[in-house]
This record gives sequence, C-alpha cells and structure tokens, in this order.
Amino acid sequence: MANSEINQKQYHNPTSLTEQSMGKDIGEDSTGCLERIRLLEQQNAALEEALQEARDANQAKSQFLSSMSHDIRTPMNAIVGMVSIALSHIDEKPRVQDCLGKIQTASAHLMSLVNDVLDMSRIDSGRMSLREEAFSLADLVHDISVVVRPQAVQRNHNLQMEIGTILQENLVGDVLRLRQILVNIIGNAVKYTPDGGEIRVRLSQCPVPAEFPMAGSPASIRESLVPGSEPVLLEFQCSDNGIGMSREFLDRIFEPFERVHSAATSKIEGTGLGMSIVKNLVDRMGGRIQVESREGEGSRFDIAIPLATAPQDAKSLNLPTGQTVLVAESLEEPAGQMAAILQDGGLQPLRMQAGLDAVTWLTEAQYENHMPCALLLGQELEDMSVLELARHVRQLAGMDFPILLVSEADWAQIEFQASRAGVNAFVPCPLFQSRLLGTLADLTSHRHQDTGSPEDMEADYSGCHILLVEDNALNQEIALELLSVTGANVQVADDGAQAVELFAASPEGYFDLIFMDVQMPVMDGYEATRQIRAMPRQDARDIWIVAMTANAFVEDIRLSQKAGMNEHFSKPLDPGHLREILHRQLRN
Ligand code: ADP
Repeated sequence: MANSEINQKQYHNPTSLTEQSMGKDIGEDSTGCLERIRLLEQQNAALEEALQEARDANQAKSQFLSSMSHDIRTPMNAIVGMVSIALSHIDEKPRVQDCLGKIQTASAHLMSLVNDVLDMSRIDSGRMSLREEAFSLADLVHDISVVVRPQAVQRNHNLQMEIGTILQENLVGDVLRLRQILVNIIGNAVKYTPDGGEIRVRLSQCPVPAEFPMAGSPASIRESLVPGSEPVLLEFQCSDNGIGMSREFLDRIFEPFERVHSAATSKIEGTGLGMSIVKNLVDRMGGRIQVESREGEGSRFDIAIPLATAPQDAKSLNLPTGQTVLVAESLEEPAGQMAAILQDGGLQPLRMQAGLDAVTWLTEAQYENHMPCALLLGQELEDMSVLELARHVRQLAGMDFPILLVSEADWAQIEFQASRAGVNAFVPCPLFQSRLLGTLADLTSHRHQDTGSPEDMEADYSGCHILLVEDNALNQEIALELLSVTGANVQVADDGAQAVELFAASPEGYFDLIFMDVQMPVMDGYEATRQIRAMPRQDARDIWIVAMTANAFVEDIRLSQKAGMNEHFSKPLDPGHLREILHRQLRN
C-alpha cells in the first residue's frame, strides 16, 4: 500500500510539470517544443511502467505471503500431529523415537522453507555460500522419503524411488541444500500431478565425465577431495505424468516468482521461488539441470551434480562372512539388488521365490544343522505374503533367528503387524548397502552374543520344572542327558495322555516349559496340547510348548500352531538350539 501511494505521487508531480512546461514554452520555436514534449512523454511512459512494476511487485508480494503461510503450515501440521502422537505413546520408546525423527525432518524442512526468502535475497546480492560436510547418501534419501512419501500417499500417487549404481555412499557437500533441491523437485511432481499419478525418482552415480564442466564447479569441491578418492557425479531424475508445462513457460521456469496461471494450477499453492533457488543452487554446486515437459502429459527433471567423496567408515562391520542368507523375494529387480549387496558383504545369498520352498529348505537346513545366518524378506512371494512366511519361520527356527524385512512401507505403520509375525529388524527402501549390511551385522552379532556366551553354557536352572513328552526311549535318554546338566527338574511322559495327566495333577504354575513330541502312540502331541490348553487354569494358557519332530513341513507347522504349540524344535536335538530355548524361557 505504502509503495503504491509513493508511486502515485511520483506519477502526478511530473504530469503537472509537463503542463507548466508546455505553457511556459509557448512562443519558442516549434521543433524545440516538440522535442521537449517527446521527452516528457517518454518520462511519463517510464514512470507509468515503474508504477505498473511496483504494483505488480506489490501484488506478487501479497500473493507470495499468502502462499508462504500455507507452505509453512504444512510441515507445522506434521510437527503438531507428531507431538500429539508422541505424547499419547510417551511410554513406548520406539514410537516416540520415530515421532521425534519425523518432527526433526519436518522442522528442518520448515526451516529451509522459511530460509527460502533469505536465500532469494542472498542470491540477489551474490552472497550464497555452500557448506561442506561429509554425509551419507542413504541418510539423505531416507530423509527425503520421510518428507515426500506421506505427501504422495495423501494424493494417491504411485511414487517409485529407485537406486541405480552407487559408487560411493559417503559424500561431501552441502547436504541440506541437496535435500532442498530434491525435495523441491519431487514435491512439485507430487503437487502438479493429478491424484493417482505416477512419479518415478531415480538416483545413481557415475564417474564425473571428462566433458562435464568440473572447471565451473566451486574450488571447494576440488579442494575437499580426499587423495585417491575420485569425485562422483550424482544423477537424479524425477518424472511425473502430471499437468506438464508449455514450451513458453519452460523458458521462464527458473525466474523468481514465476508460476503457471491456469485452471489446473489455480488451487495449487506455491511461492514460485523453488525452481529459481534450485537452479541457482545446482549452478553453484557446479551441476546442471534440464527440464522436459509437455502440457497434459507430464514433466521430467534431470539433475547432475559433481560431489567429492569421503573415506569409508573406519569401523568395519562384524558380518558373518561366508554364511548363507536366505532371500525370500519373487520380484526380480529387488531380489537381484539384495543379492548383490549381500555378495559385496561377503555373504552367500540364496534366493527363494515361494514361501513354501523357503520353509521346506529351512526345515531341511535345521535338520541337517546348516541354518543360514538370517532370512531377508522382500516385498512379494509367489504363494503367500512375506509376513505369513515370517510367522512360519519364526515358529520353525525359534525366537532368536534373525528375520529382516526390506520394505517401502513406513515402519511405524507396519511395525505392530510385522513384529507380531516375528520380524525383528526393518530395512527401508530404497535399499542402500550400508543400511542392509549394518542391520544384518547388528542382528547376527547380538545373536551370537546372546546364545554363545559361556554363562549360558553353564546356566543353572535348578528350581525350574520341565515336562518332557517323548515315546522313544533313546530320544528320551538324549533329551534327559542334555537337560539334566542344566540342573532343571525334568519329568518324563511316554505319550500325550500321560502328559495331560501329569499336567492336570501338577499345582498351578508348577511346569515352566514343555517339550512335546508330535507323533506318539495312545495320544499324539497335537491332541495333548489341545487338551492342556483347554484346561480351566491360567498356566494351561501360558505354558510354553515346544513341538519336537524329526521333520516339519508347512502343514505340520500349521497343525502344531493350530493345536496351540509355541515353537518348533527339530530332531536330532541341537544343544545350541536347546540352550537358546532354555535361556529365553527360563532365564527369569
Ligand atoms: P511453486 O512454489 O509455485 O511450486 P516453483 O518455483 O517450485 O514454485 O515452480 C514454479 C512453477 O513451475 C510452478 O508454479 C509450476 O507452475 C511449474 N512447475 C514446476 N514443477 C512442475 C511439474 N513437475 N509439473 C508441472 N508444473 C511444474
């Protein structure tokens, strides 16, 4: 308002001056007079233009302020929402941690948005500087995904984030600015694509090509190069099948405050600053950006940025090298990616496309005592869901066997279901080597510590009562021998009927654990379990019942589960596995 008043004044004064000047000049020679009139007309036109520009700038500023308030409100909503979720789950540490992580990301995004305005002024005055710090590409992609995936889900878009060849995960650069660039581009694809669209994001790296204008890159990139470690070209592509842009608009897309004004964009909030900042940042980083678009068909942004690389983490992973990892995934691409990463980590991937095959293979492996060090679940299987397979394997292989889920889903959303199915670690997609191998190393080394510690070998379970149900005399003897060294009191039943009688006659809470053979004369293990579970006493529902069979197929596992057994222990009895069960069930 103040601006336009000032400009109005400036506009009126010269006009009256023109009139005065004209009156005063009557009588002078007409050529000089005409010359003056032309000059004054030119001044008038210039002032009118300045006035129009000031009005436009004022209008742009008002529009910009209202757009900004919307853009600020979006991450604010995420923060407020996450704070209330965290408060209502204050005693659940992982949930609170997850909320805090999201609050952190949204706050950082909010901060960068508020900083847009500052950025513009820095750009205008040529004071834009870039930071230089080591960062992990995996963390960057994860952070971006946390911001953009919920937006895409809300609009029902299919957002695919793919990772191509990655030469080096540890990079050096301004990670916040990089995030700003990528979030802006993907955010626009989400915004300017009608609901239910297809958005494809791809990240990869290649050596910086000779013809690439590295000379134009900031000297800092060259200086920060670690001797021997080559810089990489980070290539980013984002394509959408959204509303697209006209040829004519593409020429102006990187101008500040430029937005397409059409029926399709009228309801889409934006500041018109994002692209201008992105272009400037990419230029400063020595990179390049290209846009292709067609109205009504979609757009594609290609960005390439040279980045210095940081040395690999000195801390080497404690991986069970040489061991097998079972990969359950029917989709070719993710299975190939998982296998390549495992091989790089010195592990042996073994792929199964059907859940039934995985269970059969594991059953044999358990029987023959060559269990893999972990199971890696992907997205799909030919015959069952990955969580269904997790349930079977958890039953078959015991509580301690590492089961990892690699998924695009938000862990907070699926955690309850996945943990109940037996999954004990989650690796987010897009898949990065550091994440997968790091999680695997953590899980397998814990397992090693948990089950292999000397304290467990010498554990004393005197005072604990175990019911051993086994019809075969030789098997009874072996099991008794293994159990007796632990100090536990073991009672033996020769068949299911005897086991039911013994349990019924025992005082409530007397038995701590039951090992139940499945195939027995008189009454089999399934029936005995059913009868025990049906007894009207609390311990009948709580007691941990371990099925013992020479071999278990999916159907056996289903039956034992249905009868009420908790887990499966295959024969011949493996002392390590037995120790693990005792440690887990009797420790407290
Ligand atoms: P805004 O805050 O308006 O989104 P940007 O500077 O990020 O501002 O983008 C400038 C304009 O470019 C947008 O207003 C929109 O008209 C157009 N635009 C950017 N990305 C896309 C896209 N993926 N599809 C269609 N139009 C786009």
